[in-house]
Parts: sequence; structure tokens; C-alpha cells
Amino acid sequence: MSGVELVVDSARWRRGLEAFAAATPGLVPVIKGNGYGFGRELLALESTSLGLSTIAVGTYAEVPGALATFDGDVMVLSPWRPFLTDVVLDERVIHTVGRVADVRDLAAATDGQARVLLEGETSMARHGLDRHELAGAVAALGELTVEGFAIHLPMAGNNLAEAESWAAVLETSQVETTTFYVSHLTSAELTTLRIKRPQLDIRPRIGTSLWLGDLGALSVRATVLDSHLVARGERVGYRQRPMPRDGTLLVVAGGTSHGIGLEAPKATAGVVQRGKSLAKGGLEAAGFSLSPFTIDGRQRWFAEPPHMQASMIFVPGTATVPAVGDSVDVAVRFTTATFDAFTLR
Ligand SMILES: *Cc1c(COP(=O)(O)O)cnc(C)c1O
Repeated sequence: MSGVELVVDSARWRRGLEAFAAATPGLVPVIKGNGYGFGRELLALESTSLGLSTIAVGTYAEVPGALATFDGDVMVLSPWRPFLTDVVLDERVIHTVGRVADVRDLAAATDGQARVLLEGETSMARHGLDRHELAGAVAALGELTVEGFAIHLPMAGNNLAEAESWAAVLETSQVETTTFYVSHLTSAELTTLRIKRPQLDIRPRIGTSLWLGDLGALSVRATVLDSHLVARGERVGYRQRPMPRDGTLLVVAGGTSHGIGLEAPKATAGVVQRGKSLAKGGLEAAGFSLSPFTIDGRQRWFAEPPHMQASMIFVPGTATVPAVGDSVDVAVRFTTATFDAFTLR
């Protein structure tokens, strides 16, 4: 293969998934977007292998694929809204509602033949019912089946306290469910919440720490497409920037279309930051950015911003350069990465 390839040590990755699922009672795997780099279909199949009965997708656009590859229930994390044009009504779909008017509209639109989660508005402030709106939401339910109550917590913050306070609200509310779906609680926080609220069936919705919990099982390789010796001061690339030293310019597969980008724009770096860069004495001071490609054991510098499908990397003369056709390691953010090839080993 050539390009950017995700290589998965499947035995090790699956051991990690099994251990995670075994340690996480009530787990609802989240399968959305680019499928955390693996693709959503594979993750749905893995969820079946793990014996899980419900999966969560991000949007309605992701529901048809999920229903086709997974036999159990499919929960939609984004709330139902009356203006959405791709809503899927199916007995295996669980809708999220976060506005009193939406509860009423969904009940009317489906003749009450839908399964719903009521979502509470947390400090995330993304979607959800205020605690004072719960009674109104319950009154608007009609024949809708309530499958649970859900909260989505931020990644930073006192999540346990917020989850506990919502659990208390739920237990004293008229919402007739004891199933409490939560997002972004640690396993220790989940344990504490279960001890404090033994009447509730607490179900964590988790993507990243499940699918990407063992990064050691994953490697991303990029093909070296071309290689040129360059001299200090020689100008290369779209931007014709001078090379900082003698070395090699490598053209490596992987660019913006793979989700490979730059760090913060250099132009906005303040005086302090530039001072720090100068103190480090690195190429950063000269306006270069560190690339995610590792060559001869070290992360190397972009010779210029990544192109659509390839990047130009400067490797100083002192380093050993790979041959054209070899591949090198590249660090990616899996939730934004697109791969040319995928191999389960
Ligand atoms: C995306 C999402 C999750 C999963 O997030 P991870 O950080 O990938 O575990 C959970 N709950 C909601 C509501 C989400 O939108």
C-alpha cells in the first residue's frame, strides 16, 4: 500500500475492548463521525462481538448504516428537532429530546410511537431541558415511551457533583425511568455515582476511551514518496522558503485531506512565545512548525505547511533518512483522520 495507513494489531486491540467492556457495566459504545478513525461499520460489528445491546450514533444521517450493521437498539445523541429532514423512525431507534415543544411535536409526529430519552441541560449548555422544565416535558410525552434520562457533561469540570445533582433531580422528578445515561464520567466517578444512587441503572456512553483506549495497538504509517538533497538557503515548495541547513527534503504521503494540519499559526505567536522559541534555539523561531512525522527517531519540521495529500519535511543532514518507498510513523488525531488504507493484523 502507499499513502497513509492505519495498522491495527487486532488481537491486542480487541483484548483492550473486551477488558474495557468487562470493566464498564451498562456500556453504550459511541460510534459517530469518522468512527474514531476505524469507520463506523467496523465499530458496529465490534459492538456485536462485545455482546452489547445498544449503540449510540451522533446524528440521524448515521442511523441507516447503524441499523444495517447492528441488530440492537440505536440511540441518536443529537436531539430530535422538528426541522431535521433525515429523521429515521424505526422501532430500534431511540430519540433524544431536549425541549418541551420538541417532546410535544415528536409525540404528534409519531402518534406516540417512538422511544425517547429526555436530556437534561448540563453546564455543557449544548442541548437539554432545564430541571424546571422536566414536569412540562413529562406532561407533553403523551404515548411516547421513555427509555431513560440523559446528561452530557463537559470534559473539564466537577462532573461527579453535576451528575449527582442530576441524579437527585431525576429521582425526585415525575420522569418515570430509573435508567440514567451519562457521558464523560471516569470509571471512578461512575462507581461513586452507583454507590450513592443504587436505585439507578447508570449507563455510560463512551467513544474515545473505548475505541482509542490502547493506542499501542495502533500505528499509522505514511509512505515516503520522494527525497531531495537540499542546501542551506535553497528555496523550496509553494512558498519558496529557504531551507535552514543542509539536509534532505522528504515528500511524504499525508496532508490536509488526511486531517494532518499544523499547530497554532505562527503569525499570532506573542513576544513571550517567540522569546521562548528563540531560547529553545529551534526552527520554531524561524517560523517552522513541528510535523507529526517521526524520522530517525525524532519528530521533524515541516518545510512548509502540509499540502492536500502530501507534506514536505525537512530532515537535517545529521539524521538517517528513509528510502523512497519506505514508510514512516505519523501521529494523527484519530477523530479527524482519514486513511487511505486500513489493515487489521
Ligand atoms: C460524542 C459523545 C460522547 C462520546 O464522547 P467520547 O469523548 O468520544 O467518549 C458521549 N456522549 C455524547 C452526548 C456525545 O456527543
